[in-house]
Amino acid sequence: MRARAARCPARITLRQLEPPAPFHRFHEHFAIDLPGARAVFTTRRGGHSDGPYASLNLGLNTEDDPVTVGRNRATLSALVGAPLATVHQVHGTVIHELREPLAPEPPPDGDGLLITRAGSAPAVLVADCLPVVVAAPGALAVLHAGWRGLAGGILAAGVAAIRELEPTGAVAAAIGPGAGRCCYEVGPDVAAAFAGYGDEVLAGRALDLKLIARRQLERAGVDEVHDIGLCTICSDPGLLYSHRRDGGVTGRQAGVGWLTEDASGPAERWPS
Ligand SMILES: [Zn+2]
Repeated sequence: MRARAARCPARITLRQLEPPAPFHRFHEHFAIDLPGARAVFTTRRGGHSDGPYASLNLGLNTEDDPVTVGRNRATLSALVGAPLATVHQVHGTVIHELREPLAPEPPPDGDGLLITRAGSAPAVLVADCLPVVVAAPGALAVLHAGWRGLAGGILAAGVAAIRELEPTGAVAAAIGPGAGRCCYEVGPDVAAAFAGYGDEVLAGRALDLKLIARRQLERAGVDEVHDIGLCTICSDPGLLYSHRRDGGVTGRQAGVGWLTEDASGPAERWPS
């Protein structure tokens, strides 16, 4: 697929790492503060990998050296001040509640992690799929949402899981960098999965995953939805990994979140 950068609405270059408010810069990455929580969407900067994986590749399910990926994960963990927890992503809708700081090893199959305590940083790994973080005071979910996950309802499942644990209080969500409508062309089978959304999400063959995500979050009762508005496919290739742009040989960036306060009070450490 040829990237059509001229149509991409938001261009952030390597030198200008300022995302649109209320997102803000976090080291060489992007962050947003949600109720009682913070979400970070990583770029590919500041890691140890080389070649097509340069440099902060967080995906073990690539051809990159797993030892180097481990170093990259440790680098991110140090930045966010908590151990990362991941799942083995399968483009489904299963969300695991994390009751201990670390996910079980090997990570269970699933596409979301839910926490109610500070002290861990659940993460999903993406390179065109949408990373979505949903938070209410005292509960946070990190969700992996490609077209299959969206069609299956993972976002509504994440919001429902949070509401079950935290029935009151505002819920907010952040959509990180992913394939934009400027570049994400799909075939009729994928388009048909979203026929109920009408013309606003499909222009020719271009599917608007982020608008679908926004509509699903709104319908699920999320009070505020923030979209960073960055397309992985046509953004600066030095900034974000894109599976489609790079023909599948690429790394993975993360959507990661953590609670800044929980039922026991403010977290001891709030990295800035
Ligand atoms: Zn684009």
